[in-house]
Amino acid sequence: MSLLKKSMIFTDIHRAIHHLLNREVVALPTETVYGLAGLGYDGQAVEHIYALKNRPQHNPLIMHYACLEDTTTDVVWTPWAQHLAAACWPGPLTLVLSLARTSRIPLAATGGLNSAAIRVPSHPMMQTILRALPGPLAAPSANLSGQLSPTTAAHVAKDLDVPILDGGPCIYGLESTIVDGRTWPINILRPGALSVEYISTLLLGFQEPPMVSDCALGKRDFITIPSSPGIKVLCPGQLLAHYAPKKPLRLNATHIEEGEGLLAFGSPLLGADVCVQLSAEGNVSQAAANLFAALHQLDQSPCEAIAVMPIPQTGIGCAINDRLSRACAAFGPGNMAV
Ligand code: AMP
Ligand code: MG
Repeated sequence: MSLLKKSMIFTDIHRAIHHLLNREVVALPTETVYGLAGLGYDGQAVEHIYALKNRPQHNPLIMHYACLEDTTTDVVWTPWAQHLAAACWPGPLTLVLSLARTSRIPLAATGGLNSAAIRVPSHPMMQTILRALPGPLAAPSANLSGQLSPTTAAHVAKDLDVPILDGGPCIYGLESTIVDGRTWPINILRPGALSVEYISTLLLGFQEPPMVSDCALGKRDFITIPSSPGIKVLCPGQLLAHYAPKKPLRLNATHIEEGEGLLAFGSPLLGADVCVQLSAEGNVSQAAANLFAALHQLDQSPCEAIAVMPIPQTGIGCAINDRLSRACAAFGPGNMAV
């Protein structure tokens, strides 16, 4: 079985393009995590993605484009969304925008909503592929729904039996930041690879839209930080229990309990048989890049549970804590991973 899966991993971009044009689903590297990609305008490919991932139909997919210009028949742009896209694309920013009348995105990919989530990824292999295709790619993370996101080709092969283009480890290692670009003020729907602070800084340079009078630019109150887990779900699919390893997690650990392995940040706690370091020097960006790989590693180790050292709630640390608390919620009562 493992031999069969190994043979599915390759590095030839043309082979990936060939599979996609054949309406097949292929795992592709991006700068965030590996994506399970299919032709975005092809309802059949989109349905195949949902089936392979066992993803709930109401959880919409992100559409990946080669460039901003390619999106204009599918979505309606707002000036502030355009400003953010110009600054962040290609890169790990996803924008939710209203569907245009001319949109070719199938309903199945938007969960039946009148909006779409779109992004222009920067990974060079993904860029080459997108430029060779006639339209966008729908590409959620290449894992079974609710489980850990894959940041290497080998992670994908553990969950899914699909062709996998190997582009090495993902540099950000965390999903994109999702921003609702339809309204002003904007809403951050999911913290991710670009920090809220960074996006906030970009908007400080943006000229206030003339029609909005009650929005104080220059203050930092024009971004709504995502609600604490369980209070308000702004984003369909932003389900509490998600991104879960197979073992229970204990967050903000200051000691090790019997049978626990350690997910360390900075100087490690003593007493764990298994210790995986996120960042010895306490760097949150490095920790983000290592997060899912570290959880995969602890999942495969002999420990029974995972103690996680505190991660600072600054910069991309917010996105790390978001993923960890969702992973934790998967083990709470009534919080099955989805
Ligand atoms: P992922 O699971 O990383 O592929 O990201 C997809 C996420 O994007 C979904 O779970 C939603 O939270 C969000 N999303 C996608 N499309 C929309 C949309 N039309 N409106 C709001 N959020 C969306
Ligand atoms: Mg995912």
